Amino acid sequence: MEMKIISLFLYLMGILCLVYCEKFRFDNYTLYKIYPKTEIQISLLQKLQENDLNLDFWTDPVPNAKYVMVLSSPKNKESLENIMNKNAMAFEVAQSNIQESIDKELVASSTRMIDGRWNTYYKLDAIYGWLDTLATRYSGVVTVIYGGTSYEGRPIKGVKISHGPNKKAIFIEGGIHSREWISPATVNYITNELLSSKDDKIQAVARDFDWYIFPVTNPDGYVWSHEEFRMWRKNRRPTIGNSIGVDLNRNWNNNWLAQGSSTNPASDSYAGPGPFSEPETRSLSTFISSIGDKIDLYLSFHSFGQLLLIPFGNTTEPIANYHDALHIGKKAMKTLSVRFGTQYVTGNIAEAIYLATGGSIDWVKEREQVPLVYCYELRDRGTHGFVLPPEQILPTSQETMDSILELIHEARELGYMNSGSTVGASILMMILLLITNLL
Ligand SMILES: [Zn+2]
Repeated sequence: MEMKIISLFLYLMGILCLVYCEKFRFDNYTLYKIYPKTEIQISLLQKLQENDLNLDFWTDPVPNAKYVMVLSSPKNKESLENIMNKNAMAFEVAQSNIQESIDKELVASSTRMIDGRWNTYYKLDAIYGWLDTLATRYSGVVTVIYGGTSYEGRPIKGVKISHGPNKKAIFIEGGIHSREWISPATVNYITNELLSSKDDKIQAVARDFDWYIFPVTNPDGYVWSHEEFRMWRKNRRPTIGNSIGVDLNRNWNNNWLAQGSSTNPASDSYAGPGPFSEPETRSLSTFISSIGDKIDLYLSFHSFGQLLLIPFGNTTEPIANYHDALHIGKKAMKTLSVRFGTQYVTGNIAEAIYLATGGSIDWVKEREQVPLVYCYELRDRGTHGFVLPPEQILPTSQETMDSILELIHEARELGYMNSGSTVGASILMMILLLITNLL
């Protein structure tokens, strides 16, 4: 009898532990790559996305979408496949068990980042600890900066790299969508290169600008994606009912809720109860405004899809310097492709991916009038999606660094990013030339 009670107790403890101790597992969750061909098929997928929150749409079924990635639990697989078959929609299984890929993601167990080890995804504590280390190692050049505080009270920590006064700035924002782990990883690599690379070009751009870098702008979500639920995208603020989280890249005060965002708090693209309703977007935008007139280039890093996006998300009407921005972006993506052949598409958000508003880059462009603003959707094109294998961290980061150098180079060719000391020098040159001519 006693044995029975003990085993019942252990059994119950086991169940409790499964519910409360274990992080959510995605065993036998299937990742589908769907190829809609007609408008009817697209609108069917749109309805599914709106109404069936059990399906996790990794990409949106937008008009002209070449493919749509959907993650399905084993429970929903059959009905999803039935719908696709009934409607003659072509699809393939990209991954039959996403948990296997999650298990292969190398996550450093240590709370310290290891120098030169770029085949590992690091947890928030490790990244933040590393930023502190940089400030000590490169004192006088690196300072730790704060872009505010998250709902759960974590700092939005970053670094400023500066080799002297009166420089224009480049702003880098990573990790606003927490499950896109390649974003903070790439941003960390860029930071490291700016500080330790022996490459002349990298050293030059590191010195020519003040760099403001925030690898993880959604720290609560990032921690949650590591500790509890790998596919978490939003922040962690409780909203309505049992729902938690707002999509921080739909919460900025620019055409808020106009397109590509949801009013349903349970949705992954819930825009929040109002623009800047969230502590993370409110405080980060305040920080950006405080240096807004200094920023020459703003880069936001997301995944996935291999796209370089230009504002705005609500219209295909080009922005004032759209053709310059497009030209510079295309040149940079050509350079990106050189090292490993990775192909990107460059375009305005609305034409390249979808109508989506309330994102950071639109706000930065319109409110702060930053001349060049881009959003990277890093690797890949759906083979692994958010669960990019760790061996791709380094190549993704390297090709991205190549492209940033080219962005800056091409921008300068077109007369951007030449302010500060460089402009001073060229004005001086012009005056000298003028005087020489007059004489
Ligand atoms: Zn994203």
